[in-house]
Amino acid sequence: MASNVLELDDLTVTYVSRTRRVPAVRNVTLAVKPHEIVGLVGESGSGKSTLAFAIMRLLTNAEVGGQIRVVGQNMLAMDPEDLRRFRWKTISMAFQSAMNALNPVMTVQRQIADTLKYHQPHLSDEQVRQRIRELADMVRIDPARFQSYPHELSGGMRQRVVIAIAIALRPNVVIMDEPTTALDVVVQRSLLENITAIQAQTGFSIVFISHDLSLVTELADRIAIMYAGRIVELTAASAAADPGARHHPYTQGLLAAIPRLSDETVVIRGIPGNPPDMARLAPGCPFAPRCPQRMDRCLNEEPALRPAETGQIACHLFH
Ligand code: SF4
Repeated sequence: MASNVLELDDLTVTYVSRTRRVPAVRNVTLAVKPHEIVGLVGESGSGKSTLAFAIMRLLTNAEVGGQIRVVGQNMLAMDPEDLRRFRWKTISMAFQSAMNALNPVMTVQRQIADTLKYHQPHLSDEQVRQRIRELADMVRIDPARFQSYPHELSGGMRQRVVIAIAIALRPNVVIMDEPTTALDVVVQRSLLENITAIQAQTGFSIVFISHDLSLVTELADRIAIMYAGRIVELTAASAAADPGARHHPYTQGLLAAIPRLSDETVVIRGIPGNPPDMARLAPGCPFAPRCPQRMDRCLNEEPALRPAETGQIACHLFH
C-alpha cells in the first residue's frame, strides 16, 4: 500500500477560453496520509475548489499539469473508463450544494443503490439494501427517510445524504467541499461531529475545504492555507490553535478575524483589500498589496514554500 493516499506534485490548473488563460492553481505540492484530515482554507477565488475538481478530474475547460496520485495510481494518465471505475471507489467527493449534487427526480435510496450497483454489479438486491441501511445508520438518518426525494429533506439531511453517497463504496480518501457552509450553526456542529465519528469508524482520509479557519482547526490534523492559487502555509492544526506560534501574515489575518469567547473585549480585524485578479497577477508576493509586513523584496520576488517551525511557509519574513 502507498504510504500516502493522495499525492499532488507541482499541480497547476489554468482555465482556458478562446481569448485568455487564467491560472487558478499554481504549483501545489501536498501529500495526505492514511486516516489523516487535511483542511484546505482560503477566501473565495483562492483556488481550493478548483484544486478539488482538478483532483477528481471534473474540469472540462482547464489545463491540468503536474501529478495527481491516489494510492499510488496516476489519475492524470487514466482513460475515461478507468477513471469512472476508480472515482467514488478509491477517491470520492461530497459536493458543496447538496440540492445540485442530488438528482431531484430520483429518491435518495435509488441514487445510493445506483452508485452501489454501477461499481459493484455483483451485489444482490439484499446486499444493496443492507449497505444502504448501514449508510443511513452512519449518517444518522432514519432509513425510511431514504425513500424521500431530495426536496422532501432538510438542508442538513440532504448534506448527510451527499456524504452517504461519497462513502458508499468505502473510498480511501474523500474530498469534502464546504459541506457545512449552507447550514445553520447547530446543524453544522452536528454534521461535523458526525463526519468525525464516521472517519474514526471507517478510517478514510479527508481533504476538507472551507473558508472557516476556526472550524477546520477543530476538525483537521493539518491545514493548508491557500492564497492566489498557491499553498502559502502548511501547518499542524495544533499550531494554528497556538497563540504563540508564528504564521504567514495571511494566516495571521485569518486568525485575527476569528471571534473569541473570552472575558476580554477584542476588536475583530478583517484583512483589508481583496484577493488579486488571477488574470493579472503582478510580480512578487501576491499578498503584498494587503500585507502589513511587506518589504521591498516582496514586490519583486514571489517567495517559495519552504520548511518553517510549524510546517511550511511561503514568506520572505521566514527565509
Ligand atoms: Fe508579506 Fe512579504 Fe511575506 Fe508576502 S512575502 S506575506 S508581502 S512579508
